[in-house]
Amino acid sequence: MRAAVLHETGQDKLEVLDDVEAVGFGPGRVRVRVRATGLCHSDLSAMNGVLPQPAPFVPGHEGAGEITEVGEGVRGLKPGDRVVVCWLPACGACPACKRGQTELCLAGFMNAGTPNFKRPTGDVFGFAGTGTFAEEVVVDAGCAVPIPDDVPFDIAALIGCGVTTGLGAALNTADVEAGSSVAVIGCGGVGISAIQGARLKGAAEIVAVDPVASRRESALRFGATRAVSPDELADAKQHVTAGEGFDYVFEVVGRSATARTAYENTRRGGTLVVVGAGAMDDFLQLNMFELFFDEKRILPSMYGGGDVLRSYERTIALWRAGRIDLAGLITHRVPLTEINEALDQMRTGTALRTCIEI
Ligand SMILES: [Zn+2]
Ligand SMILES: [Zn+2]
Repeated sequence: MRAAVLHETGQDKLEVLDDVEAVGFGPGRVRVRVRATGLCHSDLSAMNGVLPQPAPFVPGHEGAGEITEVGEGVRGLKPGDRVVVCWLPACGACPACKRGQTELCLAGFMNAGTPNFKRPTGDVFGFAGTGTFAEEVVVDAGCAVPIPDDVPFDIAALIGCGVTTGLGAALNTADVEAGSSVAVIGCGGVGISAIQGARLKGAAEIVAVDPVASRRESALRFGATRAVSPDELADAKQHVTAGEGFDYVFEVVGRSATARTAYENTRRGGTLVVVGAGAMDDFLQLNMFELFFDEKRILPSMYGGGDVLRSYERTIALWRAGRIDLAGLITHRVPLTEINEALDQMRTGTALRTCIEI
């Protein structure tokens, strides 16, 4: 079958190959025919080595499709079921799951060293244990989450990562208070989802911060009250908060420099929410005096910071009721054979989300 493969970490192009096979089918596993997959910034971060991932690998972790085969012992799934591919499945049995923090379950990472694919030339890994830039994936049954028939595959794919991450940061982690002031730094698909979450919670002011003009325009359509470039943030802070700083600042880039900016633009006693996925050797510096004296809360948000399945259901309910716009996040569509164009659209910031139709 066809899949897009990164041969070596650090390369910027994928090769679309027809000699790839999804491996590992057996008890407790399911085979999924992928129909749509979004391109998330983490795919680029895995390709360039910011996020750890053995190579060669098939990127993609934000996908949806149909079950074609279920292994022995799998309950609640059958061929023909439509599913979201969840890269962070909950085992239900570990201490994190028992506490209800299923976003912290490490079960999905236990297979990280196991190849998901093979080619005649050797093993190929799948990013985050999935690898949805492929016609077919084989995953643990817990990674295939059924979705209702009225949710199209392209929308379902977004729920698999970006939308869950951004919405959850506002709804679960920050639990934004009505009437508050919010700034969101980084307005791709995840940042826009955080903006939609802040709007749902009744934030009075939502300032979108992004260097790319088209993203700032998008942010205004999705509920930002003001959209500025990074060098205009100081003025916006002055104007919106009289210089005090925002009640909540979301860092949706994943770099220490933007996290530091976010910290400085958070008011004393306010909340910095760290959503971006950054590198292990990129350190955020805070001095012990400011940390204590300014009493700013730093809240990291992993995959929406709440129960993953509950987050999916809530997103579908909000989408169905017309309270959030998911279709509008998909600014570009390409077939898998044009995956490298999709990567370029992501790098230049022209896309919120590119849907790869498979
Ligand atoms: Zn668990
Ligand atoms: Zn992602």
